[in-house]
Amino acid sequence: MRVNYGRQTINADDIEAVLNVLKTPLLTQGPLLRTFENALSAETSFRYSIAANSATSCLYLSLKALSIKTGDLVWTSPITFAATANMAIMCGASIDFVDIQLDTYNMCPKNLKSKLETASQKDKLPNAIIFVSMCGNWSNLKEVSELCNEYDVKLIHDASHSLGAEPDTQSIDRQICDATVYSFHPVKMITTGEGGAVLTDKEYIYKSCELLRSHGITRKRDDLDKIDAEDWFYEQVDIGFNFRLTDIQAALGLSQLKKLRAFVQKRNEIARLYQDQLNADSYAYQKINKSCKSSYHLFSVLCKNKKYRDEAYKQLKSRGIGTNVHYIPIYRHPYYKQWQFEYGNFPASEEYYERCLSLPIFPGLDPNIISEVSMILNGI
Ligand SMILES: *Cc1c(COP(=O)(O)O)cnc(C)c1O
Repeated sequence: MRVNYGRQTINADDIEAVLNVLKTPLLTQGPLLRTFENALSAETSFRYSIAANSATSCLYLSLKALSIKTGDLVWTSPITFAATANMAIMCGASIDFVDIQLDTYNMCPKNLKSKLETASQKDKLPNAIIFVSMCGNWSNLKEVSELCNEYDVKLIHDASHSLGAEPDTQSIDRQICDATVYSFHPVKMITTGEGGAVLTDKEYIYKSCELLRSHGITRKRDDLDKIDAEDWFYEQVDIGFNFRLTDIQAALGLSQLKKLRAFVQKRNEIARLYQDQLNADSYAYQKINKSCKSSYHLFSVLCKNKKYRDEAYKQLKSRGIGTNVHYIPIYRHPYYKQWQFEYGNFPASEEYYERCLSLPIFPGLDPNIISEVSMILNGI
């Protein structure tokens, strides 16, 4: 492939930042992790930040912090990466899906409202909802959060696509979500190789995530049972994994974060170029509410139909241009067959899945590729 749908943007200063940590005494559990976390808090205006080794781990930590356990119920959108639903199952919860709105690609507030009404009558309300801002588009989050408030359901925002996306701060209060999760996988907005973070304004979520990120072990003197503990003393007060992010990764993240605004700008320009050059009759673009600025992690277009999409994929592939389908509805995966979800309950997700195609978008993308992709697609 000459080009993929996404890739990282690494410059000399990123490389230097990583090399510098390698010369310091602490490659992990050093000072850079805290510095990176503070920078993330500053960037996103959340009070607390916990970085970990992946967004998947961060989803797990957030659900655990919200006490999601066996017998609980979690709802999410079927159009997301499998990890969003997987982590609820890993906590012992059952999963169910709320269909998307075809034009925004995000969980549909109308569908959510009627599903909540029915669930409420049957006394089967979910304990938590995970909202996914597809491609970096926050549309519908406010409506979803209001419904969560009304029905007293916890809300996690899987913002893996959305670091640097701008909500209208007048209309979207960041405190509406219990936890917001970002991913730093190389195709995402910034990278640490692998990595992710939980951002929150809630102290109890922060404390719980921090504890569970590292075995459930604490060294904080205030949290220990033992009084007058020696410096070497620590206590395991809960049970967790090792989900830590290394200082090598934190250094890369810090360096990358400085460029986030420029990355978002560049991605918005690329999306604009596609929309100028593609034949408007053949493609529908994601609707982004006026109050949102998308981070454009993905540029997923809706083709006329499945046949057209499959042809577009094939022709671009034969020219060395990698595109992708984001995503296969989760309930279609063999692992999820055990719950016998009926595809017919998710008509918008099914249609989206048939028609969607993610075109190449990343800050270093050659504009000639955009013209080439548009020419090929307009010729179908
Ligand atoms: C990438 C992604 C994840 C998982 O992120 P990792 O950092 O790779 O664990 C979760 N949810 C969504 C929507 C994603 O796109």
